[in-house]
Amino acid sequence: MGKAIGPTVLRLRTGQVALLLIALLGIGALAGWSVYSSTPHQVEKLAILAESNDAASLAYSQRESFNLAISLEKWVRSDLTIRDVEISRALLGQRLQVTLVNGNSTYDVMTSAYKRELAVIDSFIRTESSKKSSNRVTDFLTLSSHYENFLTETRRMSKSIQQESLKQVNKVVRERTRVEFYQSGILLFVILTSFVLAWWITRDLIRTFRTSRQILDEEQKKLGEATEMLTLTRSLDYFQGLALGTSLENKTDEDFALYFEEKLRDAIPATELTVRLINGQYALEFEDNTQLSDRQYEFIYDRFTEIIQLHLARTRLHFEAQYRAHHDLLTGFLNERGFATRYAELNVLTTNTTAAIFIDIDRFHRINDSMGFEYGDSVILEVANRLRELTSTKDTLVKLSSDEFLVIRHCESETGARSEALKLQSALQFTVTNKGIEFKVTFTLGLVIFAPQELTSASLLHRGALARNIAQRQIRSGFAIYSSDQGQEYVESLAEEFALRQAIKLNEFELYYQPVIELTTHEVIGGEALIRWNRPGFGLVYPDEFLPSIRDLDLHVELGEWVIEHSLRLLVNARLFENELSHRQFRVGINIDPEQLKRPNFADFILEKTQKYGIQNSAVSLEVTEHALVETDIAFQQLQRLKSLGFVIAVDDFGTGYSNLAQVQNLPISVLKIDKSFLIPAPGKKVDQQLVIDIKQLADNLNLRVIAEGVEDQTMENFLLETGITRVQGYHYSKPLPEKDFWGWVFNFESSSH
Ligand code: C2E
Ligand code: CA
Ligand code: CA
Repeated sequence: MGKAIGPTVLRLRTGQVALLLIALLGIGALAGWSVYSSTPHQVEKLAILAESNDAASLAYSQRESFNLAISLEKWVRSDLTIRDVEISRALLGQRLQVTLVNGNSTYDVMTSAYKRELAVIDSFIRTESSKKSSNRVTDFLTLSSHYENFLTETRRMSKSIQQESLKQVNKVVRERTRVEFYQSGILLFVILTSFVLAWWITRDLIRTFRTSRQILDEEQKKLGEATEMLTLTRSLDYFQGLALGTSLENKTDEDFALYFEEKLRDAIPATELTVRLINGQYALEFEDNTQLSDRQYEFIYDRFTEIIQLHLARTRLHFEAQYRAHHDLLTGFLNERGFATRYAELNVLTTNTTAAIFIDIDRFHRINDSMGFEYGDSVILEVANRLRELTSTKDTLVKLSSDEFLVIRHCESETGARSEALKLQSALQFTVTNKGIEFKVTFTLGLVIFAPQELTSASLLHRGALARNIAQRQIRSGFAIYSSDQGQEYVESLAEEFALRQAIKLNEFELYYQPVIELTTHEVIGGEALIRWNRPGFGLVYPDEFLPSIRDLDLHVELGEWVIEHSLRLLVNARLFENELSHRQFRVGINIDPEQLKRPNFADFILEKTQKYGIQNSAVSLEVTEHALVETDIAFQQLQRLKSLGFVIAVDDFGTGYSNLAQVQNLPISVLKIDKSFLIPAPGKKVDQQLVIDIKQLADNLNLRVIAEGVEDQTMENFLLETGITRVQGYHYSKPLPEKDFWGWVFNFESSSH
């Protein structure tokens, strides 16, 4: 479709063409008529001449009539001879025989009185010419009345002569006037028509010109507006980058309102604007004396609202992530990292002796194994509640790992601390009953007495671990105080180190794979490799239990390389199912330890392996934590290089890191993995759906894909689908499986209908 743009050439309307034709016809008629009427003019001229001849003939007849009368009178008085009278009569006769224009003779047009009297005179002449002339005068008396009549008629003739000639002229003039009247009528008509036509066409021309100008102006205006909108879009995008890139630390909403105002004013210099904080909400206000169009205002307003929304989402997530980074979600206690941060304050605040009581739940793995994780969690919660009751608000409560707690409290003396710790140990104990089985929950304690300003938090934790190790030598309810003489303990940790080193050599590690599912197509699009340790005499050991030791022993790089090499085998084996998997990109997800990324040859290593196995780089997804991404330049550069080589970089545990989320927009990543703690609520709590929505919104804005992990039921799947998140993994579909079970599960899942 589309409207013609630019000036349109003038096209005559039907009416105008008709008028033009009529005018031309009129002009033609006039021309034709003049040519035609030039002949009649000639004829007219002749006619007029002829008519004047008629008049002349009549005049001659009149003269000869008079001559006859005079000759007659003179003859009566014998002054003339009869001969003269006869000549006069003959001359009159001649004149009366002249043929006039209308075909009649001169005689015919004479009055009947004239004719009668002439006849009387003729007979008088004839009679008298044969008589003697002596009586003629007397005879003439008898004629006298006729004679007088004749003269009267003759005299009257001049009037008809006049009339005759006038009549002719009038006739011709009338004729001419009529013709000229018609001609000027046509002329007038032609002029009028032409005038109307000219007016009409001119009007159309002006209109066409005007509309063309208008269209041109509009196009130009549109172009101008489009350019302005483009500039505006760019400025606002730039503003968004600034707004979402700035640090969230130590800033109030007022600070942000000012910051947004300043940056927005820089971005859109053409307008006077203010950003106000009204009831905790950012409001954008414009002065009206600016040069922006309504559309532009609206656009700015909409984009601003959108950016503010993203900002709020980012702020919520930031504080949530900070909280998660520093707290144990189940109990709300500080976690190890939170403790490290708090320790710095402790260091400043307390100069006194302080007690650190490290508390371990005895045989907690057995509770978990026999009664399930959920039950395990409820036990942890009970312990936490008891700890809260048994401590004061001045004490610091920490949850160090799944079953380890730490209480920091001020104390007067070592003996006092010791007796308080022992009191706590017994007061904490309780009995649980599950499925008819009674289970006594007991605790092993390690105590460290220290002065905060003399010890780093890391050393404190180390001392605590040593004291606890000693205490754990008792079957249950062990207790030990740290002393500097701990040589024995190093031997024990060496035994642990030996076991782990052996495990790599003896291939005691095994990779399990958890399917990653695309809900919209009901397809498995990959698997995440998760490590397990088949520890002889212990059974299957989970990564959370041995990875910290692996890190402490600096074995993580070696183990990491083992994981990369082995997890790629999943892709090699995937070739066996080429037909089944052909129409999708099947990926393996590999968890990468932050320390691995710090190695400068990490990228080369993984590239070498994909080449060795002939694997497409894009089939490999490297899962790294937000923190690891930004920790060092080397890590950042390597990931950037790997991404440009086609590897997928996924941010693992997204939303739990303590780094500023603003950095996400500058990182070489393409996937966000929402941490399972966002979807699995702590007992008695509900999932905070808004946080998940926030993450999805940020991800969309940064063009990142999202995978949700830890989907445990249909309700959660439904919610994720509503949010627009379609890639998932979790126990609702499958736990991590050994490879031999993985493929069977994949095809079983896909052939089942949902
Ligand atoms: P992750 O990367 O967040 O892995 C997901 C963890 O969530 C896995 O625990 C998985 O079994 C568990 N999970 C999956 N779906 C559900 C669910 O629906 N409910 C619950 N409650 N949990 C679910 P896993 O295998 O114990 O691994 C724990 C962590 O150990 C991993 O967390 C990862 O950070 C680390 N890890 C595992 N394998 C490796 C590895 O090869 N290398 C490195 N560097 N780290 C690894
Ligand atoms: Ca992971
Ligand atoms: Ca995770």
